[in-house]
Amino acid sequence: MSNAVQHIVIVGGGTAGWLSACLLAARLPQKRVTLVEAPDIPTIGVGEGTWPTMRETLSTIGIAEAEFLEQCDAAFKQGSRFDGWRDGSPQDSYLHPFSAPAPADMMALAAAWQAGSQQGPFAAAITPQHLVCSAHLAPRQRAMPDYAGALNYGYHLDAGKFATLLMRHATTRLGVTHVAAAVSGVTHAANGDIAALVLQGKEPLEGDIFLDCSGQAAILIKDHCGAGWVDRSDVSFNNRALAVQVPVQPGSPIAAQTIGTAHEAGWLWDIGLPTRRGIGCVYASRFLSDERAAEILLGYVANKVPGADPASLTPRKLAFATGHRDRFWIGNCLAVGLSAGFIEPLEASAIVLIELSLKALADNFPQTRASMDIHAARFNEMFRYRWDRIVEFLKLHYVPSARTEPYWQAQRAPETIPPRLAECLALWREQSPSVWDLPRIDEMFPAASQQYVLHGMGVPVPLAPGVQPSPARLAEVAAKARALTAALPSARDYLDRLSAQAAPPRIPA
Ligand SMILES: Cc1cc2nc3c(=O)[nH]c(=O)nc-3n(C[C@H](O)[C@H](O)[C@H](O)COP(=O)(O)OP(=O)(O)OC[C@H]3O[C@@H](n4cnc5c(N)ncnc54)[C@H](O)[C@@H]3O)c2cc1C
Repeated sequence: MSNAVQHIVIVGGGTAGWLSACLLAARLPQKRVTLVEAPDIPTIGVGEGTWPTMRETLSTIGIAEAEFLEQCDAAFKQGSRFDGWRDGSPQDSYLHPFSAPAPADMMALAAAWQAGSQQGPFAAAITPQHLVCSAHLAPRQRAMPDYAGALNYGYHLDAGKFATLLMRHATTRLGVTHVAAAVSGVTHAANGDIAALVLQGKEPLEGDIFLDCSGQAAILIKDHCGAGWVDRSDVSFNNRALAVQVPVQPGSPIAAQTIGTAHEAGWLWDIGLPTRRGIGCVYASRFLSDERAAEILLGYVANKVPGADPASLTPRKLAFATGHRDRFWIGNCLAVGLSAGFIEPLEASAIVLIELSLKALADNFPQTRASMDIHAARFNEMFRYRWDRIVEFLKLHYVPSARTEPYWQAQRAPETIPPRLAECLALWREQSPSVWDLPRIDEMFPAASQQYVLHGMGVPVPLAPGVQPSPARLAEVAAKARALTAALPSARDYLDRLSAQAAPPRIPA
């Protein structure tokens, strides 16, 4: 291995592997990038909700938005809606939208909403996105530049098609070398670094830095670098999912947000794409049998998807361990994606962590081996912080619930609540969440996100001292919501027109 870090070797061809290949090849064009994937080991094939960060990612990689939407059967995601989490009653629903006012504006709007007897949902009062989502509208008009929106947005997508698009883009446009082979071992350098991958049926592959994107197998970081596992199942109980894909009727509305519906021992996701809905039942195996989970899933499909035939569906079962590595970067090896860890898909925090890991790596790419341990220590500190905040924020969705099933009672047992969250909840009885609770400039779930969940779950949130209610701003938000609903196309209309335009011309008979 040379001292200069020139050759980046990625193991794994799922979303993590191909995003890594594209982003690193695009951001570091002077480096060599090789991706190795085992042709016989499938990718996980789920992961259909992204964050708004994906717009910058795709733009950096150099994929046009229309190409992405069309090739990945993708739709716009403007947030997450939570149904039945508070008490399970029919009117129990709230939105955590991607758009949030600036912190000071948020305080003034929240004060005005509270002073006005809390008319309507909190999110509807403070962002026009609530009305836009209710009307199934797109967050942008076709004429806008790629990746620009009237409101903040990410995507819902077909994970298999996304990996295929990224693979084609990486290999044909960004110069990434693709090797189809299983990794069966590694050879080590004298300093303990990985020197080369041992490949089945092929010559060993040398590299300067290795990205472990091998999914839950974590073949490099776990087996060859000795990273430990931090189990978070004491806080986050869900460890199973059953998933189905349900075709939708042409012309049916496309939901503008992921819908997460609580059930007796977990929740269901519902993600709308132009041609199908991806629906899954997430649950904790210590509270729910697989058979009961399948009943809940198929019952939801029967109730919620017009024209669906639940008897024709065979749910796919996924099992996952809840937790993350104790270190994500060891020597010259980084874990990115499921190899780094996984916590249930509530709030879709996995793909965004891949993007954040790659941004951190590309912004601070070690030019030589000499600086690598400094970068690794900083990276490990930053991502340990992020995992801790994710675990806390996901738990916040459960703790205020008044649902009475044993699973929900266990979710609010004090011994399952992380100490820092317990401390914040105690403070938030006296003052609203603020930058003092979440001080980093790039927090994944800033104070606004905490407020959306607290208000949505019916937790009384006190005002910050000295904040003046601003009824005029509330009226402005309402006026903007009306203007946007008049100007924005429906998501269905936007995406159908796009795919009609992209379809090859029909040859007359
Ligand atoms: C139920 C569920 C729902 C989810 N929903 C979301 C969501 O809505 N949003 C979100 O952001 N994330 C979600 N995720 C997470 C998301 O699916 C993953 O973060 C994402 O797909 C990245 O996976 P990966 O690339 O790390 O692993 P994988 O897709 O498992 O890919 C692993 C790759 O490693 C290769 N490999 C393995 N072993 C070897 C070997 N020995 N040699 C060579 N290659 C090897 C395989 O061939 C494969 O190509 C969800 C996860 C689950 C379980």
